[in-house]
Amino acid sequence: MRRCSICGEEKIVSESLGVCVDCIRENFDKCLPFIKKAHYRARKKYNLPLEIPQDENGIQCEICGNGCKIGEGEKGYCGIKENRNGRIVGKGIREGNLSFYYDPLPTNCVASWVCAGCSENGYPDYSYTKGAEYGYKNLAVFYHACSFNCLFCQNYHFHNYISSDISISPEELSSYVDEKTSCICYFGGDPGPQIIHSILTSEIALKNKKGKFLRICWETNGNLNKKYLEKMVEISLKSGGCIKFDLKSYDERLNIALCGVSNKKVLENFRFAASFFNERKNPPLIVASTLLVPGYIDEEEIKKISEFIAEINPSIPYSLLVFYPEYYMDDLPITPRQKVFSFYEIAKESGLENVNIGNLHLI
Ligand SMILES: [Zn+2]
Repeated sequence: MRRCSICGEEKIVSESLGVCVDCIRENFDKCLPFIKKAHYRARKKYNLPLEIPQDENGIQCEICGNGCKIGEGEKGYCGIKENRNGRIVGKGIREGNLSFYYDPLPTNCVASWVCAGCSENGYPDYSYTKGAEYGYKNLAVFYHACSFNCLFCQNYHFHNYISSDISISPEELSSYVDEKTSCICYFGGDPGPQIIHSILTSEIALKNKKGKFLRICWETNGNLNKKYLEKMVEISLKSGGCIKFDLKSYDERLNIALCGVSNKKVLENFRFAASFFNERKNPPLIVASTLLVPGYIDEEEIKKISEFIAEINPSIPYSLLVFYPEYYMDDLPITPRQKVFSFYEIAKESGLENVNIGNLHLI
């Protein structure tokens, strides 16, 4: 417990933000200096632009959902795109700044309770076995950049590699898909800033799969350019993969406080991608998740997110992820057990038919 710098009440408040969820909702303008301070501190450390660049004379970057207008010699919010001599250059198209590894199936993927690689779903059209595909593996592709700046980032180590020389072509990456690789999952960071690289890799890998199963999945914050999201939907649909949207929050103010930027695009994109859900329900094309950040992602937030999903399609699987203290929010506790179950009830009551609790081992 800590005192909120605005209302002065003792609440669950992370020292990095200094303000409570109620003040973020009701007194956002007063909270804004605290929010900016927290995000600027995190971003300065890695030499990242403090805000989404909006240089009037800059070039519009159209890769992810941030819509940076990058001035000459400046970088985009993600840190890997740059305006050099009037052109947007940087990793993420023919050169990927990423790391990868094989993950034996079943994995701890966010969609594991419903996906074709880890559950009973998808057999026989998209997987080799009726249950988890033992003996097969996932090619896990971790992109070293992100379009968000989550203070609770659970994979924050990627920040050290944003400016690295790592460069892997789509051809090279796809060549790691061997006989026993039955899915690829792109995550990070976020695949958003390097989304074209992931699409090119997928196209090559699918062309070379020779009658084998190869499901293509993305795990993303959903802050994407819609034209690439359309492509992702097409690829995941035909390959039996899924697009996993990590919906951090519903309230835009809360998203700005926790993740540095708006979630307007995210919600629009989710609605768009989910409109294809009924085209292939087994395994589900779209899966949603939310990290249960103590003190911030509360009952009200879970209710709003759940109702948002249920209103689009109550069959969309939703996973509530138990929070583990990391990065700038390492002073918050693990989500308390009774909270996790009350959020579960709220999600069910909103009409969602398939709610899961992820990271249950933590509680
Ligand atoms: Zn407060």
